[in-house]
Amino acid sequence: MYLYRSQQIKEIDRRAEQIGMSLFSLMENAGSGLYRQLVSVIKKTDKVLILSGKGNNGGDGIVLARYLKNNGYDVTLVFPIGEPKTPTAIEHLNYYQACGYEVDLFSANIEVDWVIDALLGVGGQLPLRKDFAQITDWINQAKAKVAAVDLPTGVCSDEGNIDEHAVQADYTFALHGMKPSAFLFPASGHYGEVSIIDIGIPQTSGWRVWTSDDVRNTWPKYTGNTHKGTFGNNLLIAGSDEMPGSAALAAIGALRFGTGKLTVATTKHASTIIGPLAPEATFTFNLKTDEIPNHYLSVAVGPGLNPNDELEILIENLLKQPVSIILDAGALKQREYIKRNAATIITPHPGEFSRLTGKSSADIQQNRISLASQYAIENGITVVLKGQYTVIAFPDGTGVVNKTGNRALSKGGTGDTLTGMILASIGTHRNVKAAIANAVFIHGACADHWIKDRGDQTLSAHDFDQLLPEICSHFSS
Ligand code: ADP
Ligand code: ADP
Repeated sequence: MYLYRSQQIKEIDRRAEQIGMSLFSLMENAGSGLYRQLVSVIKKTDKVLILSGKGNNGGDGIVLARYLKNNGYDVTLVFPIGEPKTPTAIEHLNYYQACGYEVDLFSANIEVDWVIDALLGVGGQLPLRKDFAQITDWINQAKAKVAAVDLPTGVCSDEGNIDEHAVQADYTFALHGMKPSAFLFPASGHYGEVSIIDIGIPQTSGWRVWTSDDVRNTWPKYTGNTHKGTFGNNLLIAGSDEMPGSAALAAIGALRFGTGKLTVATTKHASTIIGPLAPEATFTFNLKTDEIPNHYLSVAVGPGLNPNDELEILIENLLKQPVSIILDAGALKQREYIKRNAATIITPHPGEFSRLTGKSSADIQQNRISLASQYAIENGITVVLKGQYTVIAFPDGTGVVNKTGNRALSKGGTGDTLTGMILASIGTHRNVKAAIANAVFIHGACADHWIKDRGDQTLSAHDFDQLLPEICSHFSS
């Protein structure tokens, strides 16, 4: 499942036309795809009202109307804002009318089972003009199911902000791919159930929504002789006298997600807490900032640590070594990242990302994809921006959005578990991008599984000790 910004969609349309797929055909494909998707959710006897705008989104609505009429559905097509203005939409309207089909006038008294919002698509700008707002208000109060074409009118394509009159859809049929706002706030709440319509052109985006198929396709497979070194010799620098549990949770995350060997660098007191919970771990105390053994594959730093100068020197030295490094919690700080041959990964939650970037939390929630991507590119690092729809932005400008996880995870300690999982995952996967995406996906999938019959209150980070083997069993063959 791919993700496209509005500008990319416009370029794709242009390019498709240059290389031989006309806009007329693209609109035809969109409309026929919309028809197939819509008839999978409506009844044959349902009354359908299509509200088409003046642009190409409205044109998609015209094609949908033709397919519904061709197949005997009770459908009314109206242009509440005015007749189509784009050449392709006009061509389709001409063909629609040549088929003997009519356009009706909008009446606020019409009673229907379904309203199709084909008013504005990726070309929509905020705020909505008054004539649009009157129609979207009407849609929102209508006693009908609402399906939006591409995105609900009044919702931005690339950012999370919305117009106060934005359509609240029950379904959104996204053309070619998802638009970023389906994962941004508050926009995502307006989409309803989203499905993708294939309009017949190749997928070219560097951003995708990670799916269970992606997890299956990239899950590490081992055959033949293995030993514990095969699965990674990893170092976790975590835990303090005040916060030993964070290190324990990260250690459990790493051990249950397949690390071969785990050393925990912590305090003596913390080790007495971690040891009984994670007996497989070995310990190192008083880790010298300049003496980190170079036989580790990956190092995670931060859970349960208080930031101080000594820690910063340790991180600076670590960054000079060719190991993958995950920086979390107490290790998150604005700093200069040097160019290195191994992955540097930071895992902030929105509050921590706000401190790193100086942006407000609201700004981050509305623009998490572009802000994470910008930070990743500028610093040459991978950013795992946590929260609902965790964003994983890679330094090459590509990225992944994760759909798993729910509010049951909004508890102290679940992020520590994730850090341990990412640490382990880098050792077991060949591909770092898939390693991170799979750890984030499985972490959320554990919570999705839990909430089904145990509700959202009772999940605690230490439940991952039992949940991880259960959920991973769905993916390992
Ligand atoms: P596209 O044709 O790119 O799919 P749309 O169907 O979304 O785009 O229509 C975009 C057109 O709608 C714009 O060119 C503009 O004329 C008009 N439009 C966009 N936003 C608004 C708005 N908030 N109020 C009024 N008209 C708008
Ligand atoms: P802590 O530092 O206490 O361990 P974090 O805030 O760092 O907690 O991590 C919380 C974890 O839970 C992250 O992986 C985050 O993505 C996930 N999470 C929290 N709330 C939600 C939610 N509403 N939906 C999905 N995931 C969530």
